[in-house]
This record gives sequence, structure tokens and C-alpha cells, in this order.
Amino acid sequence: MNAISFSRLEQRLRTLAGFGGLPGGGVTRQAFSARHEEARGWLLAEMASAGLETWVDAAANVFGATGIRHFSPDRPVVLTGSHIDTVPEGGPLDGALGVLAGLECLQTIVEAGLTHRLPLAVAAWTDEEGRFGSLFGSRAFSGRLDTARIADMASSDGERLVDAMARAGFDAFRAGEAKVDPAAISAYVEMHIEQGPRLEEAGVPIGVVEAIVGIRRVRARFVGQADHAGTTPMERRRDGFLAAAEYAVKAREIVGKHGGAHAVANVGVVHVHPGVANIVPARCELVHEMRAPDADVLERLAKSFAALARRVAKRRAVEVEVQPMSATAPAVCAPPVQAAITDACAALGLPAMRLHSAAGHDAQNLASITDAGMIFIPSVGGRSHRIDETSAPDAIERGANVLLHTLLRLAA
Ligand SMILES: [Zn+2]
Repeated sequence: MNAISFSRLEQRLRTLAGFGGLPGGGVTRQAFSARHEEARGWLLAEMASAGLETWVDAAANVFGATGIRHFSPDRPVVLTGSHIDTVPEGGPLDGALGVLAGLECLQTIVEAGLTHRLPLAVAAWTDEEGRFGSLFGSRAFSGRLDTARIADMASSDGERLVDAMARAGFDAFRAGEAKVDPAAISAYVEMHIEQGPRLEEAGVPIGVVEAIVGIRRVRARFVGQADHAGTTPMERRRDGFLAAAEYAVKAREIVGKHGGAHAVANVGVVHVHPGVANIVPARCELVHEMRAPDADVLERLAKSFAALARRVAKRRAVEVEVQPMSATAPAVCAPPVQAAITDACAALGLPAMRLHSAAGHDAQNLASITDAGMIFIPSVGGRSHRIDETSAPDAIERGANVLLHTLLRLAA
């Protein structure tokens, strides 16, 4: 059975983690930062030294390929990849693993001269973590980028995408040109750490992803009335914060009762106005995020939350306004890709379990233009987006070999 070189993969993981590596462990390598651009240069050189053709598209996505020099419907390609950007104070594997395991697989295939009918390519997608706009590169590649928004896209610290890309040598206004002809892509498979505890708890080394959650965010604004916090009798208060608080607690109950096994929701942003101790809160705004792998469940939850907001507001004599902020649909992983992963696991004698991804991934954009799927490996303690994110060496090696044999099956 052909196998990847784990020592080479491990060495590259260690090297990439050095770009933006933090003294206490972990990595800060946000899209288009200086450390990120150094990492891009290093990655391109590694791809070239592995014998791959390399190029960078208009959305700053990096590609390395064997059998093609650019994407063309005449030569549909089997594509793998992930991202090399990180969240601030993130870990060394989120994204980096999928890119470097993909590179390792292609290098193994090239060096061993393994047979494959279709060409193969590995991608590093731009700004997956959404410093400027989540899943930016794969969105542009899949033709889902709203180019009218590019001028307004900015990081939370106020830097504009246009300026950050210009510094890195790109024209953000041309990012839409990264759109690929879907006929040029035969299939996409992405290896990623699970970022949750399910595989570890089940003691199973490989996860075959069935679906990726859809995510909706709404802003709910409860508007009551400011009053003296000492002199206003309790029963006369129209407290915007209390309405928002009741909404948040009851919404949690709705997820438990009507969300099925996989839906989750979170209130992660709360603003109270005017926000002083001696005034009854006139207004409270919260951002409510809901996720589910099933589109019907997500729709049902969104409707239940909106109805709840109206009920709570009425009872507490406040006004409420619920505004949609963003919505991505759940993505279904293609059965042929799931089957290829399952067959690769069987050939390698590795148990696998089906699960859904509770986090967003570039694969959800690719799923809109081609057969797409994901391979998960266990995360120690389910930890991710933090500096102690890690996976066991043998878990990484097994996952990379499953990726190798999945790619060979898809390209056969
Ligand atoms: Zn990731």
C-alpha cells in the first residue's frame, strides 16, 4: 500500500507554524498580513520543489498541480486543499493541515509515479477565517463573491481589503476574475481537523463529512424606554435589556426542543443602551447566530426565534426589530466523494464514522460547483481556534494516507 512521508509532512507543518508563531505556542497569521505573505512565498517554493506547477489567481488563491498549468474544462482536475490563514492566536493545524497534507499527497504521487487518469491540484484558499470576509477565496473561485461589496470589505481593526491586497500585490477589484469554469473541476476533497470532540470521544480515527452547517445571523433590537432606575416603579418599566435577556434564555430552550440533534445557536454580541447603572435600559441589541446541517431545520428555527422575539416584546411592552445580517445555506457532501473516502478507509483498515461539520469550510463553496467532501481527523480535547490546538501524530499520518487514497480513487 502506497503511503505518504510523515516525516516530510511533519517538518512542513512545523515550518509553516513558524510564520506568525507565538512565543507561548500557537500562531497568528491573518490573511494578507506580513507573516501570511511570507508563508505564501514559502508554500509556492515548497510546491515547486515538489515538482508541481504553481500559480496564484486573482483572489490570491495559491495552486500547485500535476498534469495542468491552469484550470480548463478540457482537463477536469481532482482538487484538494484548505487555507493557510489563521485566526488571531490560533493553532498550527486549522487549515494548514489540509494544504500541507494535500501537497504531501501530490508529491508522493509524482515521486512514486502512481497512476491517475485525471490531473490533481492542491489549493490554499484566501482568508478562510474571514478577516475581511469569510471564505473569501473559495467564494470568488466558486463564483459566489458579491463583487459590489469589495470596496466596503474591511477588517475589524478598520483596514480595508483593497489596501491589504494592494500591499500584497493584488487588485481586490479583480478578485471576481478568480471564478472558475465548474467543468474544469471533477471533484474536491478537503482534509481538516474536526475542531470538536466527537471523533475523539467515539475513538474513531476518521470522520466522513456528510454535510456542512448553514449559518444565519440576525440582529434583534429590543426598544423600550429610558427611565430613572431609582424612582420608576418596577411594574412601569419598559426594560429593553430584560426583554433581550428573556429572549436569549427562551431561544436556548427552543433549540433543545425543536433543533433536532445537530442545531446550535449562540448570542455572542449584546449592546445595552445607554449602558449606565442608574438608567433603565432603553434599548438592547443582540446578535443571534444559528447553525444547522439541515436547511429545513434552520428555516424552522429562524421562524421560531422571530416569533419568540415578537411574543417577548409584546409581553414586556417593548418594540422589537429582527434584521437578517448574513445567511449561508447548509452544504451536502457529494455521495461519490463520501464513498471514495469510505473505500480508502476500508482499504487502509481504518474505522470511519459519518458526521456533519459544525464549522464553516471552503468545501461548502466548492460544493456549489462540483462534487465536494471532507475528511476529518480527531482534535485533542476537541480544541481549536486556540493556541493549544493539536492532533496526535498518528492521527495526522492516518488522515493524510486516507486523503492520498481518496485522491487516487477520485482521479482513477
Ligand atoms: Zn479551517
